Amino acid sequence: MRYYLSKICGDDDRHLIHAVTCRHLPREQDERIYLGDFPHCGNAIDIAKLYFLQLHCCPECTFRC
Ligand SMILES: [Zn+2]
Repeated sequence: MRYYLSKICGDDDRHLIHAVTCRHLPREQDERIYLGDFPHCGNAIDIAKLYFLQLHCCPECTFRC
């Protein structure tokens, strides 16, 4: 699965990691960062932390994070 990091902050000041299939993933290219193709969201977190410290996985499109 390909994972993206949203550049848009949520209400709790955290950035969400989404799978490419998620309906919450920002559509504009400049509103998201491509993290890579991983078997699990946890792998994407390691890359995402290079961009933002406050982040978590989207509860709707990821699991077991
Ligand atoms: Zn999502």
